[in-house]
Amino acid sequence: MISSCFSLHGIGVSQGIAIGRVQLVSHATIEVSHYAVAPDQTAAEQRRLERAIQEVRRELKALRAEMASDDLFGEIEAFIDVHEALLNDEILVGNVKAYIVEHGCNAEWALVQQMDAWVAQFEQFEDPYLRERKFDVMQIVERILKQLMGRPGTLPIADSETHIILVAHDLSPADLLQFKHRHLAAFVTDLGGATSHTSIAARGLGIPALVGTRHARQLLRDGELVIVDGAHGVVLANPDHAILSEYRKLQQAQEAHRESLKALKWRRPLTRDGVEVSLLANIEVPDDLDKAREFGAQGIGLFRSEFLYLNHDALPDEETQFEAYRHVVEGMEGRPVTLRTLDLGADKMRGGIDSLARVAPNPAMGLRAIRLCFAEQPLFITQLRAILRASAYGKIKLLAPMLSGSDEIRPLLAAVEEAKRRLNEEGVAFDRKLEIGAMIEVPSAALALGPFLKQLDFLSIGTNDLTQYLLAVDRTDEAVSHLYNPTHPAMLRLLAHILKRAGQAKVPISLCGEMADDPEMTWLLLGLGLRQFSMPAAGLLAVKERVLNADVSALQKAVTRIVRAEESDKAKALIEKLNRG
Ligand code: PEP
Ligand code: MG
Repeated sequence: MISSCFSLHGIGVSQGIAIGRVQLVSHATIEVSHYAVAPDQTAAEQRRLERAIQEVRRELKALRAEMASDDLFGEIEAFIDVHEALLNDEILVGNVKAYIVEHGCNAEWALVQQMDAWVAQFEQFEDPYLRERKFDVMQIVERILKQLMGRPGTLPIADSETHIILVAHDLSPADLLQFKHRHLAAFVTDLGGATSHTSIAARGLGIPALVGTRHARQLLRDGELVIVDGAHGVVLANPDHAILSEYRKLQQAQEAHRESLKALKWRRPLTRDGVEVSLLANIEVPDDLDKAREFGAQGIGLFRSEFLYLNHDALPDEETQFEAYRHVVEGMEGRPVTLRTLDLGADKMRGGIDSLARVAPNPAMGLRAIRLCFAEQPLFITQLRAILRASAYGKIKLLAPMLSGSDEIRPLLAAVEEAKRRLNEEGVAFDRKLEIGAMIEVPSAALALGPFLKQLDFLSIGTNDLTQYLLAVDRTDEAVSHLYNPTHPAMLRLLAHILKRAGQAKVPISLCGEMADDPEMTWLLLGLGLRQFSMPAAGLLAVKERVLNADVSALQKAVTRIVRAEESDKAKALIEKLNRG
């Protein structure tokens, strides 16, 4: 059957073009009906299940044969092996058959009920590899369901462009962490906003990504050939030859540009008029260090330490944290590492830590980040001890998230003092001059900045949350994503205010929200006075290119007009004009 070409639109959250085959992922992949099966029919129902399983075995065999000559065969073969092992597992299949008899229900229903139980079991595993196997369970169940329902899956990943485009209803940041080790070409989700942590993780992976498509999971089929255009937020399914070759050309041009940027790796980020700029990397897990070094980061401007906690049923102990932090700080060889204390809560929840943040009616405004740490003091002190201990091995700066005002500065400093006191008593070494800073990401902190400037060593602007809280727009919700606008006139004024005050007080300030990663924002931010940018490492060279071409004194003048704009459209037009030079 020849499928026709169609397009889907969403929010492009990570640039680039990927061409590959769809791999569907989700728990509730297919709606299944539930109906009663009479006792004398359950044996027939079990046979129907067996036949479906037999068919899936044949599908996998055909897939194996078809893939044998493919470049990615090694990787795909491992999946096929796991899927076959699951199909041949007597206990798994036996459980479904037993369920049919015990509950007098259809095979599809029994299968889905069992799948949920298996997924829950896999999620319990400490070992990330084993935990990831839950996706295999979901995929194999989906194949069997399709057979049972008379719409067998097309064979995924079955030709020479075997790049995997993951398509899911939703992916949590924790899910994406698991994909860090897989070779993915792109991902597409139905839900999600531009600065949800899943989107941020995609940029960290350096792969094109699209969120908020609403129906991709339903409309795309396993194995379908698609083009993902991250910059324009489009997925094209079943493209014809002309479209494919057009996009291949574009892809090659982008690749060539990326290659040319590599020449900038060792260039000092100085503007044309000699202004020195720092370009730092955001990282989530210690493995991200490789990319930070690859793209010439001058330091780590944001280590989102909470990612160490995701996917763990138990919270990592002091030793595990210390080792992770030490690994990062030693890996940066003297360059500074800004280590943010736990920012759990809101969309960064998973596994064993869920219970800590409790089920809040409005988690983004609830017991999140520093609030959670104050409420769970032993947890906080453990992390502070680990950070302090690692500070003996290189330059660490401690950054606290989500402070809303001066009332929270004192307990923060007191907690650090307490951790220091305990380490002192134990004779454990740490950097006695450890700098302490705060994220400015809650409007109240941005507006009443004085105590932050007086009592802390440095600040970092979190535009992702600052935009969310200033505009009252949930950063993870695609339904309001059209209102999420970091260049809203109110945001520009607030940014101008923060940077001006910090400049007057001579307090170092960086910006580590996704805005820093957007080359279209670089000149605006330079004009506003920003000198330290922190972003996913893959974006560093494109931003450096903009810095090298900037003339700060001219930008400062132009930006004054932009900040005066009262309408978003006007501000947008002026920023575009600024970027044209
Ligand atoms: C921010 O809010 O801009 C930020 C950098 O922190 P996070 O995205 O982790 O909330
Ligand atoms: Mg934030």
